[in-house]
Amino acid sequence: MKKNLLLTPGPTQIPPEICAALGRPIIHHRTPQFQENLKEAVEGLQYVFQTHNDIYLLASSGTGGMEAAVSNLLSPGDKAITVEGGKFGERWTELCRSYGVEPHVLKVEWGKAVSPKQVQKILDADKDIEAVFITLCETSTGVTTDVEAVAKVVGGTKAVLVVDAISGIGVTDLQTDNWGVDVVVAASHKGLMLPPGLAFVSVSKKALALIEQSKSPRYYFDLRKAKKAMEKIDTPFTPAIGIVIALNESLRHIKQTGLESLFARYERLAMATRAAAKALGLSLYPDESCISNALTTIRLSSSIDGEKVVKRMRDTYGISVAGGQGEELKGKVIRIAHMGCIDEYDILTGLSCLEKVLQEMKYPFTLGAGVCAAQRVFNE
Ligand SMILES: *Cc1c(COP(=O)(O)O)cnc(C)c1O
Repeated sequence: MKKNLLLTPGPTQIPPEICAALGRPIIHHRTPQFQENLKEAVEGLQYVFQTHNDIYLLASSGTGGMEAAVSNLLSPGDKAITVEGGKFGERWTELCRSYGVEPHVLKVEWGKAVSPKQVQKILDADKDIEAVFITLCETSTGVTTDVEAVAKVVGGTKAVLVVDAISGIGVTDLQTDNWGVDVVVAASHKGLMLPPGLAFVSVSKKALALIEQSKSPRYYFDLRKAKKAMEKIDTPFTPAIGIVIALNESLRHIKQTGLESLFARYERLAMATRAAAKALGLSLYPDESCISNALTTIRLSSSIDGEKVVKRMRDTYGISVAGGQGEELKGKVIRIAHMGCIDEYDILTGLSCLEKVLQEMKYPFTLGAGVCAAQRVFNE
């Protein structure tokens, strides 16, 4: 049996304690025992989301949470801003179009972050905009959005600010209440160290008002139903019982560690990985002014086929990293995650495997240079 070390930005590794929790016999969801679990999960999520807002749990992957945000906040014909600087920003646009919402698409060069001024310009020119959709960490490029700055711009308008924080939650700072973010979407299988299957949506009072009014078709993802059920600490449909129970294991661990220490830890992992890439003579894909700590996107030399690097690392050596997505990045980059329980030795293992494969592919560099640079950062 071969081990498979996941260094991918979702799904991520699941620590043994959480695996054990996932292996427990199932309990019924309409019981006080499950209610206790659900209550604890919501409180734990409120800590991670840094909010007092309601948080609803949906049995779906992250995109289900994004779809719930669009269909519940907006009606056909409504206008919204979507920020597209990568694959996941594009998903907001596609979702809006699917529901007849007219997106004003703010295209951002891949590898760069949106400038809050650009958002402001559109909001100033069109007072009918009801929502602004952004991405905390654009996982396809490795860029972080300055959510606080965008929130300042959106705050004074009638629009709600919706953040896809699926890869960023618990990894990089997102102060939902302090910054005034109306809706935050997250999921179980990235920083929270769980299998895919749960999406989370936090909702401010301003957003709740829109949810009551929306004329979009909705049934399973109707957040009015989720709200009503949550008032009785319940869910409208069968929840992903096992994942909710395991979520508490994860949330307890996160609370014990503290968000601040977690953020600092991922920053160190990111700094080491960046140093390693440079020591190997490779460059970082994102602009360094907006580079994310949730993952590192490394641009490979043009003589190297990135798809082959990913395949060889995974199939021959059992180390999974992600490749590039879309026309722009397919075969050109690899992406290494710094989230969940990934630690220093996972990063060093991943880097040494990358070196091995690069050497096999005849890329010229000094063997050990990347690992050494990362070690130096860790030993500082
Ligand atoms: C992973 C991810 C998603 C959601 O993907 P699913 O496959 O639906 O879970 C959305 N946005 C970002 C930024 C992501 O990293």
